[in-house]
Parts: sequence; C-alpha cells; structure tokens
Amino acid sequence: MRVAVIGGGAMGSATSWRLARRGVEVTCFDRYSPPHAMGSSHGESRIFRTAYMEGEWYVPLLQESLGLWRELEVETSTDLLTLTGALMIGPASSTTVAGALQSARKHGLDARLLSGRELAAYRGIVVGPDDVALLDVQAGFVRPEAAVAAMLSRSPDVKCDSPVHSLDEVVDRFDAVVVAAGAWTSELLPTLPLKVERQVLAWFAVEPGADWLRPDRFPVFIRETKDAGDVYGFPTLDGTSVKIARHHDGEATDPTHVDREVTGEELKPLRTFAKRDLRGVSDRLTRAVTCMYTNTPDEAFIVDRLPHDPRVVVVSACSGHGFKFTPVIGDIAADLVCDGVTRRDISHFALSRFATSGDRP
Ligand SMILES: Cc1cc2nc3c(=O)[nH]c(=O)nc-3n(C[C@H](O)[C@H](O)[C@H](O)COP(=O)(O)OP(=O)(O)OC[C@H]3O[C@@H](n4cnc5c(N)ncnc54)[C@H](O)[C@@H]3O)c2cc1C
Repeated sequence: MRVAVIGGGAMGSATSWRLARRGVEVTCFDRYSPPHAMGSSHGESRIFRTAYMEGEWYVPLLQESLGLWRELEVETSTDLLTLTGALMIGPASSTTVAGALQSARKHGLDARLLSGRELAAYRGIVVGPDDVALLDVQAGFVRPEAAVAAMLSRSPDVKCDSPVHSLDEVVDRFDAVVVAAGAWTSELLPTLPLKVERQVLAWFAVEPGADWLRPDRFPVFIRETKDAGDVYGFPTLDGTSVKIARHHDGEATDPTHVDREVTGEELKPLRTFAKRDLRGVSDRLTRAVTCMYTNTPDEAFIVDRLPHDPRVVVVSACSGHGFKFTPVIGDIAADLVCDGVTRRDISHFALSRFATSGDRP
C-alpha cells in the first residue's frame, strides 16, 4: 500500500511514523523543511495534561498518548515529555477548574484541589483571593520541534520544500492520502468550516536566583484571568526565561497573510501578567513569536475520512490544543488508512457534525 501524507508538522509526522511502523510505504510532503516555525508546531514547549477541561471524552486518548510519547522517546533515544504537573487556576466555578475536576472525577485521575498552603509552596505563582487551583499530576510539557524531528526520523520518505497544490495531484498516484496541512487545510479542502487564528508566544527574563521556576519545582499552568482571558505558562527551560501566552483572543488570519511581527501593544497584557502574577519573572521581553491555531466551530478536532472519497483521511484543525494528542492521532489516522475504522472513540471529531444539505467537505 502506498500512502501520501500532506504536511510534516505534528499530525503529519505522527501519521507517517505510525504508518511506517506498520510497513506501509508512506511519502510525507511538506511545503517547508520541518520542524519549522511557519505553522503551529514550534516555540519550545507544549502543555500536556490529562484532567481535560475541554471534555472528559478526551481523557482515554490522552492516557494512550502518554504511553505513545514514551514509546517514541525509547525508539528515538530522545527526551520529549517532562512531567511537572499542571496547575489549573481560576474561580471554583470556572471551566478551567470545574471542567478539569469533572474529567478527573469521571476517570479517577490523580488530580485534586490544593489548599492555600499547598498552593503557596509553588513560589512562582501569585493567585488572587477568588482563585482556587487544581493540580493535575499527569501533566507537563512536550518539546514540539524535537518531537516532530523524532517522528520524521522514523518516516523513511520525507519530501521537504514540496507543496502539494491540490488533492488531484496525489489521489491517483497513491492508494490513500492523509491531509495534515494544519492552517493550510482550507487550501486543499475549501468547504471545511475552519478559522485560522494568530497567536503570540512571549518569553520574559527570569530574575537572578529564582530557582523555584525550574521544571523540577514549578509546574505548567493555565489561569483564567479577568483582564487577559486564559493565560498559560511553563517553567524555565533554559534557566533565563519563562514562556507565557494567551489561549485564543487572537486575530483572524490565514497562513499566507499572517503578520509574523509582534507589536509592543499586543504584548502589554502578557507583560502585566509576568510582572504581577509570577514571582521571579521580570517584564523584560527576551523573545516573541507568532503561531497559528486552526479552529473548528466547536473546537474539537477533525479526524475522519472524506464521505465522498474515503481514501482521503483528514487529521487537523486542532483548535489550539492538539499537540499533546499527536501520537495517538497519528495512530488513529493510520487505523483509518489501513482498516477504515479505529477502536478509539472519535465520534466528536467526525466531519458529519458540520454537514448541512448539499455540503461536500
Ligand atoms: C501558540 C500555540 C500554542 C499551543 N499550545 C499548545 C499546548 O500547549 N498544548 C497542546 O496540546 N497544543 C497546543 N497547541 C496546538 C498544537 O501545537 C497544534 O494543534 C498542532 O501543532 C497542529 O499540528 P498540525 O500538524 O495540524 O499543523 P502544523 O504543525 O502546522 O503542520 C502542518 C504542516 O503542513 C505543511 N503543509 C501545509 N500545506 C501543505 C501543502 N499543501 N503541501 C505540503 N505541505 C503542506 C506545513 O508546512 C506544516 O509543516 C498550540 C498551538 C500554538 C500555535
């Protein structure tokens, strides 16, 4: 069987890896040379967490994903996933806290609300009087560039600087095609209801001596704030800076026209957060980059075969929270290519949820 994978970012590299392991002859095409910083899979770190506020149905996939990240680390002798725990912070009724708690309870996860004293032990974070924090133990961060490189190293045929301009270019030359084009998906499948959103990642300098921000002492976190929406961040990975960002609230864009310059004005809320809500972090910016989310209307992914051409599998539209699932989504895509079905529950990711009469995604 010969399979073309369009896109060698997170989802395409994972799909290629999982297909190659099954002995499938897979060719992965990318418009650039992955890992690169032009799409959605760059910027040093991605949060991994298990008590999932976005819906409890994600939890079995996350548990499987954790095992597959470990498998990839062993196969490639790389260090990709570091477990630090995650603090989910906000008012008790917020989605961030209540949603995570609901998933944790339903699946018996190692996650619990912290007392004020327990929270104070995390010196790096300053919380407001109305906030509570849930600690999700099975959480941490993945290194995205290293992960993509590791997965591509397991895919024997990667064609860099090779954009596929239309599905017609490949459908007749291969037995199956996987579209994993991230923010570019609409160029190949224009009727999907996808919206690309620009996001800013910013690194601020760590003050001398703030060793409580190291990964062995400081977890990843997501905090629901009044003035800046959901802000998330990481421990310091280089000992000199900490990365923080806002989840959503970015401007609508597309990959051709996205403005990759970051302005001082848009950094203001993050600068305030760094200074006010983190201890040991200054408001001195050391680096800022842009990235793209590819959002569906309900922010669940798309992992499905095209109804009118089941040889084409779509894996994308990760709506800003897909990286942690990368290996399991790659394996599901391999199932859909090889068997037409998967044993995992992917009903929430079906294309049929967008169907209106006459639609042909
Ligand atoms: C700022 C930011 C923070 C994030 N934080 C998290 C997080 O903490 N945790 C988490 O789980 N997720 C997070 N995400 C989401 C996650 O990173 C994405 O869901 C994931 O990286 C998407 O992978 P992808 O393969 O769909 O897209 P990409 O990695 O962008 O890959 C698409 C690839 O397709 C190639 N391509 C496109 N068109 C063509 C074509 N026509 N022919 C050939 N190649 C083509 C592109 O060059 C690109 O390499 C974040 C995303 C961003 C932007």
